[in-house]
Amino acid sequence: MTAQIISVGTELLLGDILNTNAQFLSRELAALGISVLQQHTVGDNHGRLEELVEEAKRRSDILIFTGGLGPTEDDLTKETVAACFHDALRFDEEAYRQIQDHYARTGRTMTPNNRKQAMVPVRGQKLPNSQGTAPGAWFEDDGCLAILMPGVPWEMEAMWKEQVYPRLCQKAGCVLHSLVLRVQGGESWIDSQVGHLFESENPTAAIYCKAGECIIRITARQADEESARKSCREYAQKFYEILGTAIYDEDVPGIEHTVIRLLTEKGKKAATAESCTGGLVAQRLTAVPGASEVFHFGFVTYADEAKHKLLGVSEHTLETCTAVSPETAAQMAAGAKSAAGADYAVSLTGIAGPGGGTPQRPVGLVYLGGACPEGVWVKKLMLGQRSRDVIRQWASQQALDLLRRMILGQPVPDARLYSPEEVEQSRQTPFES
Ligand code: ATP
Ligand code: MG
Repeated sequence: MTAQIISVGTELLLGDILNTNAQFLSRELAALGISVLQQHTVGDNHGRLEELVEEAKRRSDILIFTGGLGPTEDDLTKETVAACFHDALRFDEEAYRQIQDHYARTGRTMTPNNRKQAMVPVRGQKLPNSQGTAPGAWFEDDGCLAILMPGVPWEMEAMWKEQVYPRLCQKAGCVLHSLVLRVQGGESWIDSQVGHLFESENPTAAIYCKAGECIIRITARQADEESARKSCREYAQKFYEILGTAIYDEDVPGIEHTVIRLLTEKGKKAATAESCTGGLVAQRLTAVPGASEVFHFGFVTYADEAKHKLLGVSEHTLETCTAVSPETAAQMAAGAKSAAGADYAVSLTGIAGPGGGTPQRPVGLVYLGGACPEGVWVKKLMLGQRSRDVIRQWASQQALDLLRRMILGQPVPDARLYSPEEVEQSRQTPFES
């Protein structure tokens, strides 16, 4: 089956809003095994929309529309598509009552043009809108399907999940199951390891990347839920065999959730000491419900004086090795761990730019420290000439991964573990390189 997505709205053409609906629908359709041939964006204009629909209808099995279902004059998707699909619209009492109820619930008064929203297909079906007023519509003509949903993203997503997705699954005679793997690392590295696994048609696997990590979504289509689940799990196993501990979790919104869960499960506490990220790691951790049980201290030590006063970093180290050095990172982590009485602490010190870089210490150089019962890990990151925001995001991601690995007692790739004695000694003499 093939599909085309048609986004209706002049505000999209003017660049006032980003077309997130098309992205959402493309992803969902790909997971269903339906190929999206094209995405179109068209203004609120009857003639141009009609022309586009006639053309698209000849080439695809499914046309999915968002936008232009509202009560105003310029909302004309339903009327236009109904005509192209040789259907008509009728007034629907039930839909009208639901619109009235919605207005009553939200304490607003209805305007006469809301009647327009209660017009539904004569031959086709109406799609209830659980989040708003405008019902969606479903037309079929000559083997082609048109699905109309509202423009407002949360209304559209709810209608997709509740109404459209189950109908499409039924049409395809299958059940879908998805699983999301969260992987620490950049896209090129991950692609070089598991690129071949993205070519499968069922289950499908798709990858997209965020700062310092990638998200792999595996979706299996099977006759029943149990087989779909099993097929997904088996395919995920292939990723685990290659990527191993770089996969930090499944079906979580971010690594901070994994860290808080692990600390909670093991009854341990963590602390942070941040310079270049200015509290970003602490903010990510405290965004997770339940963080207060396992995270008590987050230090933001931006100046040398703060690193010395609050974390006990040696003045000698700050003078001779500078604040951006493995010695400072190690002493910051050790200092935070002991000041907080925590089981683990991570530290970050680096140059986020855009200024302040030198040939020896370029922008993007960040040292991470990770204090655990065995000693202190130190990891050097070279994040390159990226924007300040990206460098801070990447560094925070790496720090949280270091924390995760310490809690699990795993080795930290590309990092060195210094004993407590070596860290103590670094107050007078730099680490041997
Ligand atoms: P309404 O009843 O609110 O008029 P509608 O179905 O007519 O809903 P539109 O008027 O086209 O939808 O869009 C309503 C709002 O939804 C827009 O102002 C915009 O903020 C958002 N929106 C519309 N289309 C998209 C899209 N493709 N991606 C993201 N947001 C969108
Ligand atoms: Mg509208």
